[in-house]
Amino acid sequence: MNRVEVDKNNVCLNRVEEKCINCGMCLKTCKNINGFEKDCINCGQCILTCPTGALTPKYDYQKVLNYLKDTNYTVVVFTAPAVRVAIGDSFGFPPGSFLEGKMVSALRKMGFDYVFDTTFGADLTIMEEANELKKRIEEKKLPMFTSCCPSWVLYAEKYYPKLVSKLSTCKSPIAMQGAMIKSYFSKMYNIPTKKIISVSLTPCISKKYERFLYPETDFVITTSELVLMIRQLEIDFKSLKEDCFDKLLGKGSGGGLIFGTSGGVMESILRTLYYMINKEKAPDLFYQFTDIRGEKDFKETIVDMQKFKLKIAVVNKMATIKKLINKLQEYDFIEVMSCPGGCIGGGGQPLVAIKDLEAIRQERINSMYQDDKNLEIKDSYMNQEIRDAYDYYINKERVELHTNHKKIKNFTNNDEISIIETKEEK
Ligand code: SF4
Ligand code: SF4
Repeated sequence: MNRVEVDKNNVCLNRVEEKCINCGMCLKTCKNINGFEKDCINCGQCILTCPTGALTPKYDYQKVLNYLKDTNYTVVVFTAPAVRVAIGDSFGFPPGSFLEGKMVSALRKMGFDYVFDTTFGADLTIMEEANELKKRIEEKKLPMFTSCCPSWVLYAEKYYPKLVSKLSTCKSPIAMQGAMIKSYFSKMYNIPTKKIISVSLTPCISKKYERFLYPETDFVITTSELVLMIRQLEIDFKSLKEDCFDKLLGKGSGGGLIFGTSGGVMESILRTLYYMINKEKAPDLFYQFTDIRGEKDFKETIVDMQKFKLKIAVVNKMATIKKLINKLQEYDFIEVMSCPGGCIGGGGQPLVAIKDLEAIRQERINSMYQDDKNLEIKDSYMNQEIRDAYDYYINKERVELHTNHKKIKNFTNNDEISIIETKEEK
């Protein structure tokens, strides 16, 4: 075998056979990033290094464009943090350009009725996950792993089922926001759930798989699909005026934004955990965590939480997890992201020259931390829309924000679902 296998039923990844020259780059990438060559875990890194464009995300954007023309539906889009720092690569902007305002403007021009920000969902995940970590620390049920990367969750389910009980029970920001759109948003705006189409815009192809697990999100489209939509609708992206997100599930905190980089999930959860434990804002270090930022494959440090110390680790690209497996007892909290650099390096980002990939990822990372620096609200617990959501809804109504990760599901293009029980060893 010289190239990655792409199952015809893969809901995330597609290969155009006529374009494939059998060069083997995709397999080399898969071995380098994931360290194995068995089943696909949907990270899509092979797309970014295929020299002929034979590999692409499984496209869903035409279905979304059709819904945008249908006045019977309210079509809501929510945008992951990493899209805004990468979309400019396709329109001649310098790498890492922060184009949030133009991105929102393009989505409105396309006809989306509401444009929300997944940094809201990230803030919600941070609140729930910090709270869970606090409980696990009290109950001495450590280490805990992050669970926001579906490729990591799938990898754990397939290859390390014993670790599944150590994953946070939190759904990903996209899955949480999808659930909130079909419940909280539906109620507050008095729009029946069945009349809402929720579309997640993301750098990630793996979320196309995840949305079958949590079907409150109707469609997942990637940054590269957004570029195709902008071109198809002949929108002049460069000259667009800046626009803002809608309220209710709008732009979140700096912590929610840096979720899109390796180490960002850890940093933002620690900011909130510190506050939950000490009832005061975390020290400056928690807002410039150089030990866990950046592109190193593996990062670790000990964090002083005042009442106790936490040993933390950040795994940046899947292959690195093997370094940890035999010494898990040394750590309290571990972040794992499948793609190098975290979601800013996701397989659904626009194609750039392969030789420039690393430098471009670094520019995207810098851009995110700069926006966090510029933002007044850097902590999820300070996000007023999150506070309102807990006051008005989450604490009163039943909304599904957690999961037990008990099943691996295989999906086909026809959305036929077969469920395989995970062989979790007790
Ligand atoms: S990298 Fe692209 S062209 Fe090369 S073998 Fe893989 S799919 Fe084919
Ligand atoms: S790191 Fe981010 S982009 Fe990559 S598979 Fe995980 S969630 Fe998706």
